[in-house]
Parts: sequence; C-alpha cells; structure tokens
Amino acid sequence: CGIVGYIGEQQAAPILLDGLSKLEYRGYDSAGIAVYNGTDIEMVKSMGRLKVLDELTHGGSTLPGTAGIGHTRWATHGSPSDINAHPHFNRDGSIVVVHNGIIENYLKLRKKLENKGYEFVSETDTEVIAHLLDYYYKGDPLEAIVKIMHRMEGSYALGIMFQEHPKQVYAVRKDSPLIVGKSQVGNFIASDVPAVLKYTRSVYFIENEEIVRMTNDSVEFFNVDEEVLEKTPTTIEWDI
Ligand code: GLU
Repeated sequence: CGIVGYIGEQQAAPILLDGLSKLEYRGYDSAGIAVYNGTDIEMVKSMGRLKVLDELTHGGSTLPGTAGIGHTRWATHGSPSDINAHPHFNRDGSIVVVHNGIIENYLKLRKKLENKGYEFVSETDTEVIAHLLDYYYKGDPLEAIVKIMHRMEGSYALGIMFQEHPKQVYAVRKDSPLIVGKSQVGNFIASDVPAVLKYTRSVYFIENEEIVRMTNDSVEFFNVDEEVLEKTPTTIEWDI
C-alpha cells in the first residue's frame, strides 16, 4: 500500500528499499521493485516482509541502475502471492507499473484486452493498467497515460517507466495519495512524505488527475489535457 520511485545520480534500488521501509506503517503483504539497468527493466518481487526483498536483492545491489519504482502491496484483487505482487509489466516487459488503489472497472477492461489478444499472468486489477498502457502507447508516454486515465474508473496512484524513455519516470494519481520530492541528487515519487525526507525537504503535493514527469534534474507537471502546470514546492519543516 505504498509506492516509491527515484531517478537521479545514485543507485535506485537501495533508495527504493529505504523509501518503502518508511511506508511500512501503511500495511502490506508483499513488495517489489523494478530498475532500469541500462538495457532492460529488471524486477524482483515477493510475498512477505521487505526484509525478504532486501535479502533477494542483497540490499538492492543485484539491481543496478539509477531509475526505478517500488511498491508495497495490500492485496485487494487477487490473493497475496509472488505473481500478484507489483510491479506489473506489459507483454514484452518494456512498460512497468506500480499501483495503489482499486480499478473498479478492471473486469470490463480485462475482457476487452483479452479479446485483443493480451494474456494476463496475475489476478490483479493493476495488470490491466500495464496492458492498457501497452495498447495506447505509440511512442509518447504522456499521450498513453492520458488515454488510460479516460478509461480507468476507481482510485490510483501510479509509478510508471517506459524502456524506450529510460531517462524519465512518470506518475499520476486519482483518489490515492502521491507526493514528489525534488533534490540535487535526483527526484522522487512516494505515497507519503516520510519516504523522501532523508533526501529532501522540497516536496510537491500532487492533486487529483495531475501527471508527473521526472528526469535526473527536472520535474514537470501536466493536466489531463497535457497542458503544463505550474506548481510550487512546500518546504517540510518537521522530522519523522
Ligand atoms: N488493487 C491493487 C492490488 O490488489 C493494489 C493494492 C494496493 O493498493 O496495494 O494489487
């Protein structure tokens, strides 16, 4: 029940694991991370505590790379299992998604996608997001994200990466929490402020249906019409 993301100069996996640990209070039954390694997006996910993920990845060191997303899952659709854990991929592993919330119309979307030949590997509502992005993606991530926003009913905070755009991490929310942290050594998304406080006090609070595009050294915000939004960061004065 937490999402994190990082893109910057440092190794992503240890930052993602640390961020997820700060979101443990939100509750979870499984966890996973995905990191772009310079060629592919690699993923490790597992049922159980973050300790398991930490051990599987040797503290993140088996997933080298400086851009990634991570998730702690509180199962709503599909039992807690390794396969249902997030992240979820599209069919060729070139788009990866983490999701907090519930896609209310996922069965309808799943049937539509299955009719178009998409094969599902998990029981989650989240997997429809990965395939729906695949369906609408024609080279422009922002356009694909806007298109899926028009199709999804329910609540979501999403972290998304496209292998064809490895220097960007995307996020969007509706009725699930999402913040952005901006720092000198990279940029962050998270479900809540404690996940980023170790790295920065400069935080943007993301409103419903706002889209985030981050690179190593920039953060941009868009509305559902792909118009640029001017947002002002808040300086967090409190400590964890
Ligand atoms: N509905 C999604 C699932 O069951 C996400 C749950 C969550 O917010 O952790 O996998």
